[in-house]
Amino acid sequence: MSKRALLVFNPSAGQLWNPFRANEVVTYLAGFGWTVDPAPTACARDAERLARRAVSEGYDLVIGAGGDGTLNELTQGLAGTPVPLAILPGGTTNVLARELGLPLSINGALELIPRGRAKPIDLGIANGRYFLFVCGLGFDATVTQSTDKKFKRWAGFWSLFVATFQNVVTHRPFALRIQIRDQHGNEQQLKRLAHQVMISNTETYGTGFKVATGAKFDDGVLELLIIRGRSMWEFFWRTARILLWPFSNNKLDLEHFPVTNLYVRSRRPVPVQLDGDAHGTTPVEIGIRPMALNMWVPENWSHPAAK
Ligand SMILES: [Mg+2]
Repeated sequence: MSKRALLVFNPSAGQLWNPFRANEVVTYLAGFGWTVDPAPTACARDAERLARRAVSEGYDLVIGAGGDGTLNELTQGLAGTPVPLAILPGGTTNVLARELGLPLSINGALELIPRGRAKPIDLGIANGRYFLFVCGLGFDATVTQSTDKKFKRWAGFWSLFVATFQNVVTHRPFALRIQIRDQHGNEQQLKRLAHQVMISNTETYGTGFKVATGAKFDDGVLELLIIRGRSMWEFFWRTARILLWPFSNNKLDLEHFPVTNLYVRSRRPVPVQLDGDAHGTTPVEIGIRPMALNMWVPENWSHPAAK
């Protein structure tokens, strides 16, 4: 019996994903006995609806063509179900494809689909919404909220660059109270004046910076990372050191706690982002759902961390 896949793509994502390109995918996979139904998204959050449809209609695979935002939406519908998610990359940063060691070209990723298998990974959940790789609080979420979507589509990575410089001028640190619990059930209360907090499921942040050193997306633990500091200048040089010398392991620059649950509150609302898209403000409650999503990886895939 032939296998069925739902190909979810955003037709307004520029020349990369259009019906013509989707038909190429349909034709290519038909050669391997797959029936692929193209499903263009019509509006924001539509990918989530399409993922739920794929589950209820018994599809064998969902192919997500697009950026991390599209993959995050698909995850909302696929989490906790057996239906795996394959990636055809096409976004600004492609964090997940990088982390899994998958090809960053569409053709390379496509060739892997017929010989793939499901590999479960952990998901984070923040105020009821899943994230694949990161929940960010503070500076990155401020930048995310101020980046115009149309501009982002047009300028790609550089739009984030521009928004970063716009926000550097006005950004102030946040006074946070963070309650954490680790995998052994130990609890801790942290009080921090911080510019940036990241709760990471993956090692990679943004365009390939390995910030959460040693993080694994299948170990049942999230990594809490905090960049403290009073002045913007302090934030700037700490961030520069973290990005330029990621393995220096300087605890003063970057605090690192393995966690399974945390609760963050603050007097002043702190912007929150999930996988690069804005998700309200604090307070935020975060947890982990171990092995909640099946990713589609090559048959001979092994953990990149083990290589
Ligand atoms: Mg982990």
